[in-house]
Amino acid sequence: MDCDVLVVGLGPAGSGAAKAAAEAGAKVLAIDRKREIGTPVQCGEVIGRSLLKRSGLKLPPQAVASKQTHTRFIVDRSLDISNHGPQWASITVERKMLDKILAAEAAIAGAVVQADSTLLSLDMDGDIVRSATVRFRGVEKEVRPKVVIAADGVHSPVAKMTGVCWNTPDMVAHGGEFEMVAKRPLPRCMQIFLEEEVGLGYGWIIPKGRSRANVGLAEVGVRGQTRNRVQDWIDGNPVVSSYFDTESIIEVKTGDAPVPGFQGGPSIGNVLFTGDSAGQTLAFVGEGIIPAYMCGLVAGESAAKDPQSYDTRLRAVMGEELSYGGELKDAILGLWSDDSLTPSQKYTAAGLVMSEAIPPETMAALVEEGREPTPLELYRMIKKGGQKVKVKRLDI
Ligand SMILES: Cc1cc2nc3c(=O)[nH]c(=O)nc-3n(C[C@H](O)[C@H](O)[C@H](O)COP(=O)(O)OP(=O)(O)OC[C@H]3O[C@@H](n4cnc5c(N)ncnc54)[C@H](O)[C@@H]3O)c2cc1C
Repeated sequence: MDCDVLVVGLGPAGSGAAKAAAEAGAKVLAIDRKREIGTPVQCGEVIGRSLLKRSGLKLPPQAVASKQTHTRFIVDRSLDISNHGPQWASITVERKMLDKILAAEAAIAGAVVQADSTLLSLDMDGDIVRSATVRFRGVEKEVRPKVVIAADGVHSPVAKMTGVCWNTPDMVAHGGEFEMVAKRPLPRCMQIFLEEEVGLGYGWIIPKGRSRANVGLAEVGVRGQTRNRVQDWIDGNPVVSSYFDTESIIEVKTGDAPVPGFQGGPSIGNVLFTGDSAGQTLAFVGEGIIPAYMCGLVAGESAAKDPQSYDTRLRAVMGEELSYGGELKDAILGLWSDDSLTPSQKYTAAGLVMSEAIPPETMAALVEEGREPTPLELYRMIKKGGQKVKVKRLDI
């Protein structure tokens, strides 16, 4: 079986890539080992509205669960930082539905889309893939593509088969969450928790309407978030447990998210890597749905027109956002590993940077001076930065 472009994986990156390559005139085969695209969900399902707008993707109404006006950060169980800037307004999606619809759009654009089809091995001539062995619904077949797009997720089998690694283990966050029904109405905002009880990551309440939400946490470099760990955190956090009772869980979701920071459009020979397989997330929060889709579009168009141009095209389209996300992630990791700070100071400083209340360089200068900002200084800094941020003490 010959094709111009073989796309491995039909998450947002693979579907974007398959669609763009087909629209650019390539003969595309796109496969996913899942029997049902989008299932199981391994995601908090939230999308930042500004990036969504820039992507041009029109979310199908049936894939939208709820819309949030702002994001609230609860830091060290003592500070409430609400960012009302446009980048912190969000939409929660039903990933099962969204991924299926994106795969269908790739098929409508002319790609051959096959669920229940697994890439088993690659036959390489140096760096060049000559053929791929794929199991289509139980039957092994050989595919001879001109270009392969690896959109096969954080633990990319294609990366292993080609001997590269874009996501080192210390740059992968391990997450676990429950979809739950709330005991009382949820506010129309996403809530993010930075605190010692979570560790090097954050906890979240991502609403799916006023009475349902994804509730969980992710940590960098710590293997696996067990059901017990998530349950203990929910039960032990006074804000989270005021909304949720872990006796009532409607879905358990676990997974890994890459946060290496921007590495351009990595490739080897005739293989282009995109989405999580290339670590293309907003690294400081691990947001990857829309970044993967946008990077996938660039990979697909490049594969069809000029594979060598992938890195340059990607830097032009996504370089700014993904680099900024990587810089914030580095600043946050730097604060967490600064032994001159107490745990409380670490989480407070990281919360102020993650919420974009204070730029990383201002925070670094304060840390250098060895002190926390006073409320008046905070107010002045935030006002000067032009952010629509409100900060108040939390009494719990
Ligand atoms: C706990 C958690 C919470 C998250 N929350 C959010 C969030 O709220 N918002 C957000 O934007 N991002 C979130 N993310 C990140 C987001 O889910 C990913 O960045 C996004 O799914 C990346 O898309 P992708 O297409 O690159 O990879 P994936 O969605 O992982 O798709 C890869 C596909 O490749 C397929 N595949 C793998 N190997 C093979 C093979 N050999 N043959 C065929 N197919 C194969 C897989 O079956 C899979 O369908 C979260 C991640 C985790 C782990």
